[in-house]
Amino acid sequence: MTGADGRGRRRGRRAGPALAFALAAIAAACGTGVDEVSLDEPVPTLFPSTVPGGEAEAPVDPGSTVVSPDGGLDEDSAPVVAPLDHDGRARVLLLPAGVTVPVLAALDDGSVEVRGPCGNRVRLDATATAGAVSVDAAHLVVDPAHGGADPGVVGPDGIGEADQNLELARLLVDALAARGVEAVPTRTADVDLAVEARVAVAAALDAPLVVIGHHTADPGAPDAVRGPDPGVEVWYRTGDAASRRLGGLVHEELAAALAALGGPWWHDDEAGVVHRLNQRAEDLRRPLALADGPAVVVEVAAWGDADEARRLATGEARARIADAVAAGVARWLGSDDPGSGYRDLQPEVVEAPALVTPCVDVLAGLAAPAGAPSDANDGTDRP
Ligand SMILES: [Zn+2]
Repeated sequence: MTGADGRGRRRGRRAGPALAFALAAIAAACGTGVDEVSLDEPVPTLFPSTVPGGEAEAPVDPGSTVVSPDGGLDEDSAPVVAPLDHDGRARVLLLPAGVTVPVLAALDDGSVEVRGPCGNRVRLDATATAGAVSVDAAHLVVDPAHGGADPGVVGPDGIGEADQNLELARLLVDALAARGVEAVPTRTADVDLAVEARVAVAAALDAPLVVIGHHTADPGAPDAVRGPDPGVEVWYRTGDAASRRLGGLVHEELAAALAALGGPWWHDDEAGVVHRLNQRAEDLRRPLALADGPAVVVEVAAWGDADEARRLATGEARARIADAVAAGVARWLGSDDPGSGYRDLQPEVVEAPALVTPCVDVLAGLAAPAGAPSDANDGTDRP
């Protein structure tokens, strides 16, 4: 395990996944916030593993640019990621309920107003925020796609994309922390989370967004072939060079890692570093349409194929995927490497329906009673 600043290791505690250490370190560095986690106390596990095999040891990743043959980080070749400035202002809260929420206002009575997981404005009192971790800055926001009522494609053994993504995100946050990259997840539990709310976390921190990962799910498509080349798709925000290079570096690392795991893999004509607009001339992938800063959507492989999904659902495969994505992000932050895998898709317009997705607010039972006049009006009310 690795604490973001090493203090967790010095204290020698065993208190849950590395994320807990990383989050506690962020909170400690922030100096302010709501009910911070203290490193003097056992750190609560805010990001538990929820899938079979999730606690497997991270393997050596020979394909990574920054992992040495003995499995440790290679300090000489690792990109140097500039540390963040921490000003101590709580911009988002990681709540024990399993969602990360932007802080809209801190009120005089000790409560806070946040943007809830369904996009609504919610007031939480001190009881509701007990155990939360406040974060003032992050290099990256990691968004495990799907969750709650939306399991995504359900693969072998009943594991949905949502569960696989959550585990990948947990491992990714840890792998990033090992590279000096402070990352914040949008959710740490199987809960509903509107796309707008996910993107709002990145906006609140002014941080890039990596969505991980939808999984190409249509091995029966006419253009799909099965072979040795992984069908990794990394979608980037149209017109944004930073998003494109981030996509190229993540793709380069992830495609190499999957190839090293061994195929065959489903591969279709959207494989590569790609972007595409819908009929409304918005990015086809909704998080990219809503984001303002660098953003990519990583589609790892074909969860819809039982054989492929079963190979991806092991602890080793998950750790390698997470490590590869972390390596790509670290190179994006710490080098001028160009990345690879860029493809120009045909300018086909893909019809995307205007989605109205039901959202169950996991915070509904925690919200402070309505009716008390709010003294905060920052003009960021319901979207
Ligand atoms: Zn998906």
